[in-house]
Formats: sequence, structure tokens, C-alpha cells
Amino acid sequence: MDRLTFLQSLGLLSLMPFTNAFKTLEKLNDQLKPSPKMPVLFLGHGSPMNALEQNIFSNEWAELGRNIPNPAAVLCISAHWLTRGTSITAMEAPKTIHDFGGFPKALFEVQYPAPGNPLLAKETIQLIKHTQVVEDHDWGLDHGTWSVIRHLYPKADIPVLQLSIDFRQEGSWHFELGAQLEKLRERGVLIVGSGNIVHNLRQADFSKINTLDFGYEWAKESSLLINQCLQSRRFEELCQYEKLGKAVQFAIPTPDHYYPLLYILGLINPKEEFRLFNDRLVAGSLSMTSLISV
Ligand code: ZN
Repeated sequence: MDRLTFLQSLGLLSLMPFTNAFKTLEKLNDQLKPSPKMPVLFLGHGSPMNALEQNIFSNEWAELGRNIPNPAAVLCISAHWLTRGTSITAMEAPKTIHDFGGFPKALFEVQYPAPGNPLLAKETIQLIKHTQVVEDHDWGLDHGTWSVIRHLYPKADIPVLQLSIDFRQEGSWHFELGAQLEKLRERGVLIVGSGNIVHNLRQADFSKINTLDFGYEWAKESSLLINQCLQSRRFEELCQYEKLGKAVQFAIPTPDHYYPLLYILGLINPKEEFRLFNDRLVAGSLSMTSLISV
């Protein structure tokens, strides 16, 4: 009797996927120990040049890296990885992706050789019931991730994974998916959303990218309104940002840079506090507003 027939005769074949999943979790248990609950972070990343510059934003990121307990891994939801369906990077060594044009050579020379963590990718897939997440072996780390994470962890010695954004889905869908990552926070995983709340590149005045607090009226108005929604925990309204009025529609012409925030809001428990930081406008139409749970 061959192995397949033998398993069929025992009625065990249908249990095989569960057995495999269990083994994966068992292995992961060895690797990622239970930890005190990790904070969650949303970072306004702004210009890719922030990857190289030391300024008030990147100094704040570096400070976070020194103050947050060292994570076992980082899982980043970057505005720059939009897909049909949801994917997670599952390679051992994700490549550094230079997904921009027209910047100095020095920026293209940046490498961020953080390892991946294929087992954590598998566990994350099992945690998410909201949709079928697939393993990705082609992407890597785009600048939404490495331009900020290199300031937090300059040694690139902490594994970094990315979860993609299914661009076909609406706000509340992303919020709910974020909530399902909850358990990772107790396994030492730092979950980071990287985008920008106010993000209208067509209107941006790049000659004023380094002029702090230079914001158009609609950018100021929308930033204030969204901050008020955050502070009064009106997350449902934030999921339906399209209904927040004209200024917000102008601030979020496409939701790619906004959606990472919703994953992080989905992870904030009702009793958990959070604070805003880097709450400044640049280039007229970009906000660097960021959030950390405390
Ligand atoms: Zn961006």
C-alpha cells in the first residue's frame, strides 16, 4: 500500500493541511516568543529624500527606534505596494526596490539588506480570515518601507516583511484586515503603516518640500478635520473618508497613501491610547502626521 492510499484508508488525508499548518505554528513558536504587547505605528513618509536626510522627521523615526522595545520582526503596510488581492513578502532576503525617478544617485545606491522571515509570513497568512493572502517571492522592500525603517533600525538586522494593499477594496475592509493582525503584537512584531494622510502630489510645490508648515488652506482644513476624527476616535468616519467633505477629497485624491493608516487604526484597541507626532505640512499638499499607540 503506498503512502497516499494508506492515509486515505485512515481518513487522515483531509487533516493534512491542518497538520502542516500546526507544524508551521509549532516551528514559529520556537522562533517568535510571546512578548509584551508591541506598539503600532503609522508613519507619514513624505519625500523619498527623507531616507538620506537628517531632519525633524527622520530624527523622530530614529528616536522611535531607540525607544520601542527591539522587535522580533517588522511588518510594514506600505502605500507603494498596491495589488489585486493581498500578498505578503515571504522570501529569505527581500531586495531593496528603488521605486521612484528623478532623485540623486545617492538615493538609488541605498541598500537596506534586512532579512525576511518566511515562517512569519506563513503565520500571518493563517491569522487573516478576512481574505486569502498569498506568499510573494518577487517584491521586496519598497521605499515606503526602507526610507523610514532604515532610520529606526539602521543596522538592518531585524527581519522586515511587507503586506500589500488590495487597491480594489474600500476603507472599512482595510480597517478590518488590520484588526486581524492583532496577535502579532504579542509575538514581538512591530506593525507599521507607511503613507501620508494628506497626499496630493499634483498640487505639491516641491520647491517648498523643506519649508515646514507650508500648507494650502484645504490641506490645513483637512488635516485638522482628520486629526479631530482621530482624537475623538471616530474611526468609522475615517474609514469613509470620501464623505468627510471637499477639502478631504482634495487631500486624498487617491487612497493609496491613506489606507495604511486604516490598518493601524484597526489595531488600536478601544482602551488603548495613542499620540500624534510629526504633525506638520510640507510642500503645500503633504502631511507628515504620524501616530503611535502608547
Ligand atoms: Zn509615498
